Order: sequence, then structure tokens, then C-alpha cells
Amino acid sequence: MKNRSIVWFRLDLRLEDNEALTDALQASDEILPVFVFDPRITKATTRFGFSRQGWHRARFLSECVHSLRKSLRALGSDLIVRVGYPEQEIFKIADQYKTSWVFCNRERTRDEVRVQDALEKELWTIGQEMRFSRGKMLYYTQDLPFPITHTPDHFNQFRKEVERYVPIRTPLATPDSLPPLMSDIDRGIIPEVEDLTLDSKYEPIRDDDFFVGGEQIGKERLEAFVEEDSIRQYSASRGAFLEKEMSSRLSPWLAHGCISPKMVYQALEQYKKRTRDESGAYSIFIELLWRDYFRLMGKKHGNSIFLLGGIRGTVRRDLQSDMKQFMHWANGTTGVPLVDACMQQLNQTGFLSGRARELVGTYLVNDMHLNWQMGASYFESRLLDYDPCSNYGNWNAIAGIGSDVRKEVTFNIASQAKILDPRGEFIKSWASKYSDMPLSEINRLHELCQN
Ligand SMILES: Cc1cc2nc3c(=O)[nH]c(=O)nc-3n(C[C@H](O)[C@H](O)[C@H](O)COP(=O)(O)OP(=O)(O)OC[C@H]3O[C@@H](n4cnc5c(N)ncnc54)[C@H](O)[C@@H]3O)c2cc1C
Repeated sequence: MKNRSIVWFRLDLRLEDNEALTDALQASDEILPVFVFDPRITKATTRFGFSRQGWHRARFLSECVHSLRKSLRALGSDLIVRVGYPEQEIFKIADQYKTSWVFCNRERTRDEVRVQDALEKELWTIGQEMRFSRGKMLYYTQDLPFPITHTPDHFNQFRKEVERYVPIRTPLATPDSLPPLMSDIDRGIIPEVEDLTLDSKYEPIRDDDFFVGGEQIGKERLEAFVEEDSIRQYSASRGAFLEKEMSSRLSPWLAHGCISPKMVYQALEQYKKRTRDESGAYSIFIELLWRDYFRLMGKKHGNSIFLLGGIRGTVRRDLQSDMKQFMHWANGTTGVPLVDACMQQLNQTGFLSGRARELVGTYLVNDMHLNWQMGASYFESRLLDYDPCSNYGNWNAIAGIGSDVRKEVTFNIASQAKILDPRGEFIKSWASKYSDMPLSEINRLHELCQN
């Protein structure tokens, strides 16, 4: 009898550098690639009542899954799509088609672990097992010079212990072909975007087709970022607000696993060889290290990243959960032009630059004195690149309750606006309320909010 395995695609929606797929192909004669849309994400709300997956991310995810199916078909296989609880849907397939194993990426955060544990238990009842793979991080945890429980809590210490000494593995190749999928199995239909979110349909108001989901597009965006010499200007662009000046904007593809951090690293190495520009590439490498660091903090400190007191367990008594005030922030109607424009950009596109996230985050927590969890929950709903560890880890840092000791961060909005948006272009383009307002008046509003 043929050896069959399921490859459960989670947020690793690619064929290149996919360890679960590579391992499954080595162990099996037949593979059944599966993706499950889980209503606990698509049709649920966060604890503060925001749809768990906003319209933008629903669309992006749908594009990723369509793209994955197309790539699998091109290699001779297909994608089996189901809607339901993965622990039930995958179990049904495993039982019906008498597979031996389910290969998948091991997740480490609360909700994801619950699902994979439940599936594992179900599989045991029919003599099958899960085989866990890696692929979310730049580094393999087994290559690190410390166990996860001893990961340095300070980013700089972590960086020092890994960057020089731990090699980054080469990405795994895309398979040349795949065994054909049995003809009797129902492939399933990819749901419409409207069915993947609780948001009512969103009408894009501008051409935002930069963010299109899928492995192929993700690779093209990576290539273009490296080719267009954007890396050389990277340090300067990191804080930029205007799209044309922004950083890599690769995060949505990284978060959905359309590209892996190792693939980005490899592209950076090739760029360095070609241009001899070390510093731009190094700056991006450091950002990828932050990504690994937050994931490791999530693994080390577990659920605490989601709790009010954060990793440090320090509950800030000055923060209130005033929903009315909060909605001014969320809707971009605080009356502070720069904050409002950032929030409008987030609501209209699902994306916000790193500096803008820090700015609106610190404004919420340290100026409005509102509960950081509400902000994190809103970002979870809206961001195209939502990732539990990166999101909650960064919010912990903003609230000063993360593992990396930090003082409360506040930005001087008036001076930030002068540096980052000196002509008010960003503000006027995103927040229509200010589009006809003279720059002097915008500056005055910023000065007012500082006092
Ligand atoms: C409050 C807050 C919430 C955030 N939530 C998320 C989130 O849910 N998902 C997410 O991917 N990033 C999150 N970030 C981190 C960061 O803002 C984005 O990763 C980055 O802005 C994406 O833009 P980019 O791809 O152009 O980044 P670049 O500057 O080009 O960096 C390259 C890559 O490095 C990673 N990276 C960069 N900065 C960080 C960081 N501070 N923490 C973790 N990874 C980083 C991202 O994968 C990014 O794509 C958050 C930051 C803040 C302050």
C-alpha cells in the first residue's frame, strides 16, 4: 500500500523553502495538500469586538490560497480546500484516505497551539501522527547557542549572541514535480472574500494593488526591492510615511509565509555580493532579527504577551478601557492630523509603516492613556501583516511592559510631523478632513496637542 501524507498549509503559503512539504515528499509516495479556512478566524471577533480578520487581510489571504493552488496544479497536484475547524476537517481526510502522517509547521502561540494539539489527539485515535516542521524564522531554534527558555530578554544581547556565530541555512528548493492527487477527492472551493471576514464589503478608494497575495508576487516584490537599489536608501526610508519612500513592505508576504525570512536573507547576500553595499543589507537583516526575537519571546514567555501586564507582569494603572475615546483613535478622528492620517491609512489599506505604528501606538498609550490591548486588538483586526508575536511583542514594548527594558516612549508629534511630513502631503492625502487645511493650521493643531 502506498504511503500517504497530508501537508497542512498554515501560514506557510509557498512551495519554495517549505520544510513541511519537503519532509512529506521524502517520507511519502502520495501527498494531500490541504488548506482549511477556520471560522474561528474568519467569522469571529477579537475580545474587544473587532472582526478578527479585516477585509484587507481576508482578500490577501484569499489571493495567497488561489496562488498556492495554481502553483500546486502546475506541478501536477492540487490544493484541497475546506471550511471548518482544522482539527475536524483534516481528521476527516486523514481517516477517509488512510494517510500515515500530517506534516505542518509548528506554531507556538495560544490559539494555534490549541488547534494543532486537538488535531494531534484526534489523529492518535486512528493511529496517525503529526510531523512538525519549521520555517517561520531566520534561525532554526536547534542552531541557537541557548535553549528557548534562556533566550536573552534584551534584543541587543540576543543579537550579539546570534548574528556572528549562528549560520543561516540555505532555503529549500521548490520541488520539480509533485505526485498527482487522487481523482476521487473533492478539491473544494475557495470561498469568496466576503465570506472570510465579518467586515462589510470594503470599496477601495485608491489603487492599492501593491499588496497582492501569493508566493509569485511576494518573490517579485522581494526581487524588485533588491533590484531597484531601495536597500541603499533603506536606513533613510525606514521612518518614511509616503509610499514611494517606504521600507521594503515585504511584511504581508512574510506574515502569510509566501516568502520566508531565509529567502529574504539569501536575496540580501546576493545583493551584497553584487553591490558591495553592506550597511543597507545589514539594516534589513536587523529587522528580520527583531522578527525572530519577538517570536522567541512569544515562545519563551508564552501567553503573557497577550495579558494586560505583558511579559513583565506590570499592569499600568494609568491605562483606561474607554471605548468611546478609543474609537476616535481607531477611526482617525482624534483631531491630531498626523495620528488621524496614519489611522486612515491603516483603515483604507491594511498597512502602516513601522514608524507610523510606533507613533500611533505611543499616542494611544502614553498620550491618550488607553489600554494597549485595545490597540493591539485593533491592529490584529486591520493589519495585512498581522502576526501574533510581532504585533503583541511590539505593543508590549510600546507600553513599556515587554522583556527589553525600555522607558515609556513618547513622540513629539509636532516635531515628528515636521521631519516626516514637512509639506503635509501624507496628512492631506489620507485624512480628507485636512486636505484643504493650510499647513500652518495643521502645524498649530500639532503644537496644541503637545501642550
Ligand atoms: C505596534 C506595532 C505592531 C506591529 N505589528 C506587526 C505585525 O503584526 N506583523 C509584522 O510583521 N510586523 C509588525 N510590526 C513591526 C513592523 O512595524 C513591521 O514589520 C514593518 O513596519 C513592516 O514593514 P516593512 O515590511 O516595510 O518592514 P522593513 O522595515 O522593510 O523590515 C523588513 C521585515 O523585518 C520585519 N520587521 C521589521 N520591523 C520589525 C519589528 N519591529 N518587529 C518585528 N518584525 C519586524 C518584518 O517582517 C519586515 O517585513 C509592528 C510594529 C509595531 C510598532
